[in-house]
Amino acid sequence: MTPPQPMPRFAFDNSYARLPDRFFARLDPTPVRAPAMIRVNERLAAELGLDPAALASPAGAAVLAGNATPEGAQPLAQAYAGHQFGNWVPQLGDGRAILLGEVIDAQGRRRDIQLKGSGRTPFSRMGDGRAPLGPVLREYIVSEAMAALGVPTTRALAAVATGEPVMREDVLPGAVLTRVAASHIRVGTFQFFAARGDDAALKALADHVIARHYPDSAEAEDPYLAMLDGVIGRQAALIARWMSLGFIHGVMNTDNMTVSGETIDYGPCAFMDAYHPQTVFSSIDTMGRYAYGNQPRVAHWNLSRLAQAMLPLMGEDIDAAVERAQAAIDTFPARFRAAWLSEMRAKLGLGSARDEDEALIDALMEAMAASGADFTLTFRRLADAAEGCDGPRGQFADPAAFDAWTARWRSRLEADAMTPAARPAALRAANPLYIPRNHLVEEAIAAAMAGDVAPFETLNAVLARPFDEQPGHERHAAPPQPGEVVERTFCGT
Ligand code: AMP
Ligand code: MG
Repeated sequence: MTPPQPMPRFAFDNSYARLPDRFFARLDPTPVRAPAMIRVNERLAAELGLDPAALASPAGAAVLAGNATPEGAQPLAQAYAGHQFGNWVPQLGDGRAILLGEVIDAQGRRRDIQLKGSGRTPFSRMGDGRAPLGPVLREYIVSEAMAALGVPTTRALAAVATGEPVMREDVLPGAVLTRVAASHIRVGTFQFFAARGDDAALKALADHVIARHYPDSAEAEDPYLAMLDGVIGRQAALIARWMSLGFIHGVMNTDNMTVSGETIDYGPCAFMDAYHPQTVFSSIDTMGRYAYGNQPRVAHWNLSRLAQAMLPLMGEDIDAAVERAQAAIDTFPARFRAAWLSEMRAKLGLGSARDEDEALIDALMEAMAASGADFTLTFRRLADAAEGCDGPRGQFADPAAFDAWTARWRSRLEADAMTPAARPAALRAANPLYIPRNHLVEEAIAAAMAGDVAPFETLNAVLARPFDEQPGHERHAAPPQPGEVVERTFCGT
């Protein structure tokens, strides 16, 4: 006899579900034919106060596939709007995602538990509400790698196969991802209510965001302006961190930008191999709007949309409100620059700041772009150079360009506050060896689609410790061979 299945228990406390009805549509996920657990993120489960064994059981798979509603859940699809590639769309919303509820984690932080790929909702428009296995595994791998790399991000708690086909250009196996987030509130959530002239909803949303993400703003003279300023600061830091890792989000629409400061919506995202500032992977980004080098400008533009949406909250005097919101928005470029410089100084092993550092960083990046040097390995191997070895010289088609830069770098290091003995370890702590390279992600997905999840498991395990050299995993650190290069990534929606 099999022992009784433990039903996973969640200590739900659902603050979003207490907001007014027009914030969402309440509905249950649509059940699927044959839920089968692919992977439970045991570490994250423990952090959330959940029992990993219960989640991994058939009863857990049923819950995370949307076939059973756990006690205390208040399933809902959130309403939002957004600018997609610059074009205004007045209604988007969770078309294939359902928020089960919120739990308080071991550190006392409130976190959303959301199913993605869980069936149609009133916001599905023409979509089927489903997700193919490939994009689910892709989001799992990349979002967890981002977390290990120290990037604020939504997380992946589990991936479950549905046992149902999903019709795209091909017939694909379906899956559901359990996404965990500080919240799923987006710039587009504010835009949704602003566009409807619904000031009461805007205020309720902003108060919710302040209580949840910016509690200090409640004490400010103008709490809403302080909240806006807080979002600008977190996004400046976030985009700087992306840039420092060679990460390209791929779809920085305003509905894909959180107010919490976490990275969200891993669709056609990618890490660069060979560095070039205009790199684009997304098949739908034909104009290169969301190219690597454009990301800071796009974030600034998106934040301006948030400021605009929040104007009705900033007092009766419209001109004064615009002036204050604009002043906040105008701080973005300098804050981004400062955050970026600080990231990049660490990547060069600099323990102090000097005016000439920016030119030194730019010179390296220019040489990397001209030589098609691998972004990740160039920085990682500076640690070897600091130990007197060749370092990343081999990455450069024009080694003389690297040598010339190295001479500048070494003379800068002589004037630096960090001791030479401390530098190699500092460089290795700032520059990862392992990133979710496209060809490895695609290889893991292809194997899983053929029934072999071992490469997916191995890749996740390696990427969980991106800064530690892991003997035997040299191929996980290597750039793609010419035949392995992935040129395009897809939303997979
Ligand atoms: P995304 O490009 O994933 O940010 O999605 C943009 C919008 O399209 C969101 O409102 C999604 O909920 C919706 N969407 C994407 N894929 C689907 C799908 N398969 N079914 C229904 N809605 C979808
Ligand atoms: Mg989205």
